[in-house]
Amino acid sequence: MRPQQITVLGATGSIGLSTLDVLARHPQRYEVFALTGFSRLTELEALCLRHRPQFAVAADEATARELQLRLRLAGLKTEVLAGEAGLCAVAAHPDVDAVMAAIVGAAGLQPTLAAVRAGKRVLLANKEALVMSGALFMQAVREHNAVLLPIDSEHNAIFQSLPRDFGRGLSAVGVRRILLTASGGPFREMPVSALADVTPEQACKHPNWSMGRKISVDSASMMNKGLELIEACWLFDARPERVEVVIHPQSVIHSLVDYVDGSVLAQLGNPDMRTPIAHALAWPERIDAGVSALDLFKIARLDFQAPDEQRFPCLRLARQAAEAGGSAPAMLNAANEMAVAAFLERRIRFTEIATIIEFVLNAEAVVSVEALQAVLRADSRARELAQGWLQQHGC
Ligand code: NAD
Ligand code: MG
Repeated sequence: MRPQQITVLGATGSIGLSTLDVLARHPQRYEVFALTGFSRLTELEALCLRHRPQFAVAADEATARELQLRLRLAGLKTEVLAGEAGLCAVAAHPDVDAVMAAIVGAAGLQPTLAAVRAGKRVLLANKEALVMSGALFMQAVREHNAVLLPIDSEHNAIFQSLPRDFGRGLSAVGVRRILLTASGGPFREMPVSALADVTPEQACKHPNWSMGRKISVDSASMMNKGLELIEACWLFDARPERVEVVIHPQSVIHSLVDYVDGSVLAQLGNPDMRTPIAHALAWPERIDAGVSALDLFKIARLDFQAPDEQRFPCLRLARQAAEAGGSAPAMLNAANEMAVAAFLERRIRFTEIATIIEFVLNAEAVVSVEALQAVLRADSRARELAQGWLQQHGC
């Protein structure tokens, strides 16, 4: 059998590198077809030298030319494409079997949708794409017979804890609730009054996971769990009230499904993203992910607590957006991306992330989003509003 051809969107990031680690463990089974990067050209070059893909995609024409030159000099045949058009081309290429969607943020929407519309196996790490365009995205999955597999550890755990025919509807398969676990991030126990003064370095120091900077800040504010709540609603066709967030600081139980007969099924494992990546790559088979066996004796205890929305207003705002539907999740996501970028640049305080998102959500009435154009309009309107807030506050 010929090896499956894999495109890794966002190859230079945390999920991208973990994906390449798993792929490299199974050279007979998988081949890297395309790798994409954005700002880290030298890292992308090094990945191309190691994995020898057919295609690479760089941020723009100038960096693509530069990378093409470097790869030619190194004797590689890799063809280098540029920008969003290049990303969509390698996501939808007829020779590709599976696409890892691991670009961070709204920038991943079009390439991920391109993979869906080409009917690929889509490994979804880029939760922002689904949060923005939920209904459209899921409709495209159905229309084009794409196979959508969640990489987010929680959603992957839920997927593993649901029966194969969960698409018939959660009630039809006896599900009462989905329990979405959250570590609570680095500020779970910090006095609320101290949150205004935390630094980007503190926010990016996650207790259990090593991740990109944007998702690390989202984890600290619990907006990550808010985005995941919306993601779960779309992936599993659940109403927001069916999804409960449970703080579980050890990050060993990756999420649970509660059934009407009182059974609760969960997926456990060491906090290592190679597990969900390997699961989604090989599903319904299982392959080695390079992850060590779970040592329950070492873990000894598992703790649970209810989330505190006073401490984590982003979680409340995300639940509101989930319930409002329409353009609200796209606006929430875009406002959050703007606010997190401003926080990482030290232009605003950590606590102002929620302030900006709430301002943006209250500034505009929710509209329905039937076409991609409407999603993109909501996204840019939210960015304009957030920009306005930043300017008004001299940031
Ligand atoms: P990261 O910052 O480490 O990597 C992001 C990747 O996206 C990089 O390859 C970067 O070059 C690329 N990128 C950034 N901006 C781009 C743009 N404008 N155009 C094209 N490419 C661009 O992030 P990450 O931690 O790997 O997260 C990636 C996605 O996976 C996010 O959506 C995140 O929420 C999700 N996710 C990550 C983890 C994790 O453990 N890291 C867990 C669950 C979900
Ligand atoms: Mg997650």
